[in-house]
Amino acid sequence: MKLGDLEFHIISDGHVLLDGGAMFGVVPRPLWEKKSAPDARNRITLAMNCLLIHAAGKRILVETGAGGKLNAKLRDIYGLDGPSLAGGLQNFGLRPEDIDVVVNTHLHFDHCGGNTRVERDKVVPVFPNARYFVQREEFAHAMHPNERDQASYFRENYEPLESAGMFTLLEGDSVIAPGVEVIVVPGHTAHMQCVKLTGGGKTAFFFADLVPTTAHLPLPWVMGYDLYPMATLENKKRWIPQVVKEGWLALFGHDARVPAAYLRERDGKWEAEPVPVD
Ligand SMILES: [Zn+2]
Repeated sequence: MKLGDLEFHIISDGHVLLDGGAMFGVVPRPLWEKKSAPDARNRITLAMNCLLIHAAGKRILVETGAGGKLNAKLRDIYGLDGPSLAGGLQNFGLRPEDIDVVVNTHLHFDHCGGNTRVERDKVVPVFPNARYFVQREEFAHAMHPNERDQASYFRENYEPLESAGMFTLLEGDSVIAPGVEVIVVPGHTAHMQCVKLTGGGKTAFFFADLVPTTAHLPLPWVMGYDLYPMATLENKKRWIPQVVKEGWLALFGHDARVPAAYLRERDGKWEAEPVPVD
């Protein structure tokens, strides 16, 4: 997909199975199971969609999926399966060494697990030539998560990179490259960032976990995982109408069927009009 000189692709790092109830918060199961049928363990299928962006001569990745470090028990609990980010990059003729920038929207394992890998009992960067970007306060929280969200944070995904001086810790909205901007959108975590891509008069907006799938478009459909659900609600009210009104392309990090769509308002409801991706 092209936005003027900026080009981007959606690459899946496979899928993860998460509890359907936790994914839809206060929404009763008879409603959400119509959108996403759970398996026998009450889990629904979520994609881990990453972005590969070519902007101003740089190769930029947004998110790195769950990666390959989780043990067999956790891989089973989360039902990790499907294609890999590395394989997706290979399809574009790219090796990990070719990536210049990695952006993590936040540091839950399904967004940054592919930051690092194990090599001879040592955790090393997957993208040795990249500078990694995350919000400073998200990093601080990830180093000391609380009892409610500590299951989502694994230090091996980010601490070794910080120790190696490979992280740039951002303080607020920032331009990563021409046409690539991160915007702090609290709710899911206190300092999650969304990514806005602009070029040629067009805009695409990566919702990260503000609106993880098209099923989460209705305002009360807020994840039970969110630390600050009322902030998520406020930010959905702020950003979804803007995406609709300005005709931005919406990008969904966890939607296995509709990673990209234009959003329309019909009879007071937001609808996703899927856009084919490569
Ligand atoms: Zn998350």
